[in-house]
Amino acid sequence: MRKTLDNLLDLFFPKLCILCNDPLVEGEEHFCLKCLCDLPRTGYDYLQENPASYLFTGKVDICHAAAFLRYEKGGHVQQLIHALKYHDDKEIGFRLGRMTGLHYRQAILSDAPDLLLPVPLHPKKRKKRGYNQSEWIARGINSVLQLPVDTTSLCRIRQTETQTHKQIYERWLNVQEIFSVADAHALEGKHILLIDDVITTGSTIGACAEALLAVPGVRVSVIGVAIA
Ligand SMILES: [Zn+2]
Repeated sequence: MRKTLDNLLDLFFPKLCILCNDPLVEGEEHFCLKCLCDLPRTGYDYLQENPASYLFTGKVDICHAAAFLRYEKGGHVQQLIHALKYHDDKEIGFRLGRMTGLHYRQAILSDAPDLLLPVPLHPKKRKKRGYNQSEWIARGINSVLQLPVDTTSLCRIRQTETQTHKQIYERWLNVQEIFSVADAHALEGKHILLIDDVITTGSTIGACAEALLAVPGVRVSVIGVAIA
């Protein structure tokens, strides 16, 4: 009965692709198959140096780094990230995380991390948004890799002013000491895969990594859904 009702509703009020506004067909969620295929992939190799890993070279010791999609101003990836961050579309985060996990599954598991750690939001910001978008991405990755998601061992202790208008060097200074390890014991000797939505200068995720690397025996790798 429920299914029939849903079908009837879809007939009169079809769900639309959030990217091209075409009606979605059965099995499609959020965006259509064509838009999915057209999303710009970076082609970065997680196990080798690439433009995502270069961001950390000489600054912070990262094992592996990659980003799945290319973030372009006005592009489809920006639209998806915007929906995820500002329109309460958490499921998109899960979906993007799952896609990223599927794409990098083999590479990530060849040097398997012990846990996935989404970049934490400041508690005030998290409360305002109602969720941490990177946590939803991590859950999507977890649905493929079956690795635990750690949302408690690292905290954001300082809110930063908006980064948008800052120069790259200023950005790196601006994020010093904004993260604090809450449970060093839980992280000792672990290989941690840090998860972010969009990597821009790498300064925020670099600061996360620095805080984590202070714990004995920790190794850090990085994966972003997109890179600007
Ligand atoms: Zn579409």
